Amino acid sequence: MREARELLDRPVQGREVNLKRLVVEIMVKSDRQSQLVRRTGLSGAQVSQSVQELVKDGVLEVDAPGSGRARGRVRLSRMRGVAVGVDVGFNHISAVARPVGDPHDRIAVRREGSGANIGFRRLLPSVLRLVREAVEETNQGMADVVSAGLAVPRMVDPRTGRFTTPVLPPWETDDDPAGELAAELGTPVVMDNDANLGALAEQTYTSEEAVEHVVYVKASTGVGIGIVVGSNLVRGRRGAAGEIGHLTIDPNGEMCLCGGRGCLDTLVGSESLLAKVKQSQRGTARDVPNTLAELVLRAHNGDAVCVRVLNDAGRVLGFALAQLCNLINPHRIVLGGELADARALLLEPCRQELDRYALAGAVARAEDFDLRTSTLSPLAEAQGALILGLRSRSSK
Ligand SMILES: [Zn+2]
Repeated sequence: MREARELLDRPVQGREVNLKRLVVEIMVKSDRQSQLVRRTGLSGAQVSQSVQELVKDGVLEVDAPGSGRARGRVRLSRMRGVAVGVDVGFNHISAVARPVGDPHDRIAVRREGSGANIGFRRLLPSVLRLVREAVEETNQGMADVVSAGLAVPRMVDPRTGRFTTPVLPPWETDDDPAGELAAELGTPVVMDNDANLGALAEQTYTSEEAVEHVVYVKASTGVGIGIVVGSNLVRGRRGAAGEIGHLTIDPNGEMCLCGGRGCLDTLVGSESLLAKVKQSQRGTARDVPNTLAELVLRAHNGDAVCVRVLNDAGRVLGFALAQLCNLINPHRIVLGGELADARALLLEPCRQELDRYALAGAVARAEDFDLRTSTLSPLAEAQGALILGLRSRSSK
């Protein structure tokens, strides 16, 4: 069987650069030629000619014309090679693995409930075990891993690929999770902020047709957003774009981890929501939820306090997102992270506040704006890491 590594490791120049970019995009997701034009930035003629050439070489196949969604879809021929994506949250690790020629939703998944709060060095053995198990499930081996991406809940400097300093706890300035993981995997690992990668996955994997401006909101322990415009992530000069969790909502509010006061995180971060439920039960013997997942579950079971806490969180989030809509006018906002498991309990009040505070021109028309909860949850970030890992190979 052909090796994906041969295609990815080969240094290219001239028009071969375009061929490689096309092959990598098809590894990310098989697609129709019209969509590949958009995703690669190549012209229709370039894509068409390159596809013909790569079909002749046995690298690509085109689904026979016929009916249904597969019509004219360009896919990779069978070959060895696995792409890996890892998401390290505060309370979880997710690892996904997929043979590069398989459909994007046919992934091997491993998840575990320990996370960054115990420190990355202690976490690394678990990360490696989950990656290994996921890769084995694809019936290939660790030697077949050709790319890897890592999602972390911190800002990442786009120029260095390392944490943007000062880095907030529990991470430390000299932590190098991508470097440590790369040394163990024997393949380069690229790292980015988890919300950025969620945005990448939502834009790439949830629509047949292109949605150019996508904002992904990751709301769990804290809140961060990823902004993708066209085929570019908006990272900012030092990776601080999208740090909406530290947007000041109440200048006289609670102190935040960042040193600010009344940041969005202090109002809708998981600790704040759990504290509100606890406070409502003071003086009673009732037990209170200890995790955001428990809080959400109780709300779905009709607990009036938990419902109200999530409704209020949706309102505050909607207010913050309304400012964002007036600034960048996204086409789609996707709510992800554990808080989004509240679904309508969060979405509806959020939508009401968007209608109230954002310009009607930005949010009123259904064909120009849509707010939804993530369908890739809880794997959007890991899927985005897999995409980033693959794409990093097209430029090397
Ligand atoms: Zn803050």
